[in-house]
Amino acid sequence: MQIYRLSALSDNYIFLLHDPTQNIVAVVDPAEARPVLEKLKSLSAKLVAIFNTHHHADHVGANQSLIQKFPELTVYGGLKDRGRIPGQQVFLQEGDRVQFAERVGEVLFVPGHTSGHIVYYFPPVVVGETGELFCGDTLFAGGCGRLFEGTPTQMLASLTKLRSLPDNTRIWCAHEYTLKNLQFAMTVDGQNTDLQARFAEVKEARSRNQATVPSMMGIEKQTNPFLRWEQPTLKLAVQSQEPVETFARLREKKDRF
Ligand code: ZN
Ligand code: FE
Repeated sequence: MQIYRLSALSDNYIFLLHDPTQNIVAVVDPAEARPVLEKLKSLSAKLVAIFNTHHHADHVGANQSLIQKFPELTVYGGLKDRGRIPGQQVFLQEGDRVQFAERVGEVLFVPGHTSGHIVYYFPPVVVGETGELFCGDTLFAGGCGRLFEGTPTQMLASLTKLRSLPDNTRIWCAHEYTLKNLQFAMTVDGQNTDLQARFAEVKEARSRNQATVPSMMGIEKQTNPFLRWEQPTLKLAVQSQEPVETFARLREKKDRF
């Protein structure tokens, strides 16, 4: 399975999964049709599936037009997003599996950003290879999604789930927010040398307009404040001893940043 990252709208990423053997493609969160159609054309491949993480327009915006071009494709999304994802045919919940090419993806239910958000995790097929996590707007490189329809308690549980995935998991998040996220992270965890090093790298990459996605779970665990609510420095930064409160205060601080 080849993964391509396509830019869309102002800062969205669409991920295109290609199986060269059958020459078929699946897309994750198609915000726009144009970049997807261009890539399909260059691969001369057929679109067979849309994997949606949640119902926001910048993630499902191209569903209808892609269905029109490829009427046989299957649209996957979360059970709780029934009625909110255009063309949805498969209603997934925690523990369900999806198949694409030779890979099996596991579905995790991660409410918080929205009430129906799911992510797709493709474990490595061969030991030592990376796993692939398509996490929409739940976990970002250096940050996490805003709580539009969920509580801090829910988001904490969702991020705990994601944090338990292996370090060797690539994080395919749906927006290029990394620089802003790390600027915030530095205000609450500035003594963290892993974070300092990452911040310098990301500043450099963005100054050359390079993408910072995918990230790796191992790096996120070391540097993302929204996976580090137990760390004494972060508890101190928001004056809290309690995990949910620490997380909630970090998230509120970021909302105002
Ligand atoms: Zn969203
Ligand atoms: Fe989004």
